Amino acid sequence: MTKNEIADVLSEIATLLELTGENPFKIRAYQNGARKLETLEEDLGQLIEEERLGDIQGFGAALVQKIEELHQTGKLEFHEKLKAKVEPGLVSMLEIPGVGPKKIRALHDKLGVKTIEELQKACEEGKIAGLKGFGKGTQDNILQGIKNREAYSKRHLWWHAQQVAEPILQGLLALPEVEKASHAGSFRRKRETVGDLDFIVGSSTPGPIMDWFVKQEGVQEVTAKGETKASVRFETGLQADLRVVPTAQFAFALHHFTGSKDHNVMMRQRALSRGLSLSEWGLKPVDDEDFSNSLKADGEEDIFAHLDLAFVPPELREGLGEIEVAESDQLPKLVELSDLRGVFHNHTTATDGRNTLEEMTQAAQDLGYEYWGVADHSKAAFQANGMDEERVLKQLESVRKLNESGKFKTHVFAGVECDILTDGRLDLDESVLMQLDYVVCSVHIAFTQSEEEMTARLIKAIEHPATTMLGHLCGRLLLQREAYQVNVPKVVDAAIANEIVIELNANPRRLDMDWRFWRNASEKGLLTSVNADAHAVEHFEFMQAGIDAARKGWLQAKHVINTYPISKVRKLLAKKRPDLVF
Ligand SMILES: [Zn+2]
Ligand SMILES: [Zn+2]
Repeated sequence: MTKNEIADVLSEIATLLELTGENPFKIRAYQNGARKLETLEEDLGQLIEEERLGDIQGFGAALVQKIEELHQTGKLEFHEKLKAKVEPGLVSMLEIPGVGPKKIRALHDKLGVKTIEELQKACEEGKIAGLKGFGKGTQDNILQGIKNREAYSKRHLWWHAQQVAEPILQGLLALPEVEKASHAGSFRRKRETVGDLDFIVGSSTPGPIMDWFVKQEGVQEVTAKGETKASVRFETGLQADLRVVPTAQFAFALHHFTGSKDHNVMMRQRALSRGLSLSEWGLKPVDDEDFSNSLKADGEEDIFAHLDLAFVPPELREGLGEIEVAESDQLPKLVELSDLRGVFHNHTTATDGRNTLEEMTQAAQDLGYEYWGVADHSKAAFQANGMDEERVLKQLESVRKLNESGKFKTHVFAGVECDILTDGRLDLDESVLMQLDYVVCSVHIAFTQSEEEMTARLIKAIEHPATTMLGHLCGRLLLQREAYQVNVPKVVDAAIANEIVIELNANPRRLDMDWRFWRNASEKGLLTSVNADAHAVEHFEFMQAGIDAARKGWLQAKHVINTYPISKVRKLLAKKRPDLVF
């Protein structure tokens, strides 16, 4: 087992111990051990071989023995026994947003609740509100959490869906019978979560394609299989539909099944106003019964052209005014992944990242970035090993040295992800923050403030002279946690007034600030930085998800500061730090 896999096991042990009501010191020892292991800079195998693991502070004899057992055998008897001891229903309760091991333990001990169903019943009967330390508010939240969990389980992150969709599409395109193929639906429109996958194929011999499709890896159930249409369900619960149509009809079917519904309604109305009828079968005069007389379309471009419209990229087909803009040929040239020249807001082993400063720099250079920005946590984020002023300055020193060494072509900007405290103050001294190249301010605690409090809190952070960017504004974790209450337009206005960038966090579970706000905000003058928030080198891949969200928000390269060349970025950052030499 690798050190990260072992760290995951240790974290799970901590959670299981909490569910069994173990003493807090023992629990913390495992939590700390997991974190220590994740941020270990030395090679674990070597440490074990040289019997030096116990020398590291926080690794007691019991923990060392367990880490060694996992490292050597990939299994741990203690872990297996513990798992067998804890009711599985209690473990699944952890999936309810806002319900932690401590609460679950209390509910189990006081009410004998062992499953989510029993918990829901207890809430509905009002039994939770009366418990010490719970109250009516908590009871409502738990009930809402159970409902959210149910809704969440029906949807899938775009990022995860992509891992299923991509190999299928490549496989389809490689079949000799397939003339054209594409994915469709909300997946093609790059929605942040999707309900299912849709594939459209153009072919005159659907038989072998259908047979191939239902035999794909990971297919758990074939829910329908006809001559030209099939549906399957994968192990993850994700459903996928395949439709095979004659190739002449492909563009129409693709457009129709890409949607959205609102977009299609507007397109059909536009066709009608020209005496035409548009459907998945084709585009024909309204009074003609026969779709074989349809106008021709080799690609979707032709459909738009028949209706005197510029091509609307799938990301914009949400029925949010794209037709009007396409009519006057004013659609923006949307930002692309290849426009990026740098990437800000990333973590290293100094806090909760899994790679060192040098490893991250190497990875950024391998991806062709001109610059990247480190932004590790500040001290309030103690569970992420956040840094105090002294450690921040020490890291700043290492960044300067690394840049001066000339070891890498890629420049490193020194920053920090500074916690916004509950009252809007920043977690680190202004004098230290001003020495950094840039500062991302984020909320990581006290999510349950009222909209008024949270909005004021964010605006206060924005007004701080050292702030460069606002991190993950809404705090949502897609399919895990709802956004907190905040007045986004007010925060956007404050950001513009203070020349602050609001990040578009590219983590596929965040994609925050939400794409729905960007068109308006950018028109008002707001700039963004699409930030990886990478906690490991492989997370730089998230930039694809960030760019997809930016495109859905109608953003162009000029709105995204990390598409700028480094000289322009330096000028931009220097606005807040006129005394610094960049
Ligand atoms: Zn953060
Ligand atoms: Zn972060």
